[in-house]
Amino acid sequence: RMLRVAIMGLGSYGTRVAEAMQDSKKAKLVGVISGTPSKISAWQEKYNIPSKNCYNYENFDAIKDNPDIDAVYIITPNALHHPQTLRVAAARKHVICEKPMALNAEQGREMVEACKNAGVQLLVGYRMHFEANTLEVIRMREAGEFGEIKFFQGLSGFKIGDPSQWRLNKELAGGGAMMDIGIYSINGARYMIGKEPIWVTAQETKTDPVKFKEGVDETILFQFGFPEGIVASCLSTYSMGNLDRFFLNGTQGFAEMQPSTGYGPIKGKTHKGPLDNPHITHQTVQMDRMAEIILEGETAKVPVDGEEGLKDLIIIDTIYKAVASGRKEPIQLG
Ligand code: NAD
Repeated sequence: RMLRVAIMGLGSYGTRVAEAMQDSKKAKLVGVISGTPSKISAWQEKYNIPSKNCYNYENFDAIKDNPDIDAVYIITPNALHHPQTLRVAAARKHVICEKPMALNAEQGREMVEACKNAGVQLLVGYRMHFEANTLEVIRMREAGEFGEIKFFQGLSGFKIGDPSQWRLNKELAGGGAMMDIGIYSINGARYMIGKEPIWVTAQETKTDPVKFKEGVDETILFQFGFPEGIVASCLSTYSMGNLDRFFLNGTQGFAEMQPSTGYGPIKGKTHKGPLDNPHITHQTVQMDRMAEIILEGETAKVPVDGEEGLKDLIIIDTIYKAVASGRKEPIQLG
């Protein structure tokens, strides 16, 4: 059977996910939650969505009584992820939540707890965990083909436009580039190296304090220490283009990917040759696999659950702490 999904938040990424889900063999868009009636009717027409599966932000708790929706995919501004996840969990529907899962680890813990208590799954929209070239690098690393891993470099950034957008509003975004794009280097460092970081140092620079207000980071450089002396060096920024690059170095080989996390195709090579798996729309594969995880209970194999989202939030909290203290801060994922 198909996973029957309602999308909450019909913005630019919600639109992309809906388009991609049309090609999914395992997940189907059956409902919407939106504050904009005109968007609801346009989506109803485009995706053949019945009125009984349409909700707004005031009444969506009633989804509890709708047997035709299995899961809600939350694709709203970051600050809404926490309260909306708690409400979806209370309605006993599975939650797929966009990254960053929440604004901080405290919220993340509440979300994990709420979903556990409600007996529903919580997955985070970490689409790279389903991308073929990324999975090939992970496979090679697990097979020892790079030898001992020594170093990772992650560069994640883009030039952000319109200064009035929610991404530059501390209340809605929870921060700046780190919450939005730097998180790819954090998650990437973890899946490329295959271990958890134990400390971080971080430095912030700001060239435009009008656009990037207090609490909205423009550029942060950060460095992780991992067990066995492995190190990582990463950049998160909202003010440089062409920054979507991963590099992994081991004693017997390397992988480099550019673009490494964009919508694709993901390109790159290793010491053994090019990464040449065919490109499939990330969100289509993601929805197929997430449907399998939710319907067939495969969570253990794919690190995209709430506990994983929480780890990245703990790391983000610690990066901001390291920026403020100027010191090497221990990362406690425990
Ligand atoms: P967007 O601004 O295009 O869409 C956000 C939607 O939320 C809009 O439709 C807006 O109307 C709605 N919304 C509901 N309540 C709102 C409120 N109080 N204030 C503002 N908007 C409100 O943003 P987006 O690019 O679609 O991003 C949404 C989420 O998806 C973010 O958390 C973002 O990090 C995530 N995202 C993930 C990826 C990915 O590749 N995994 C890519 C893009 C965005």
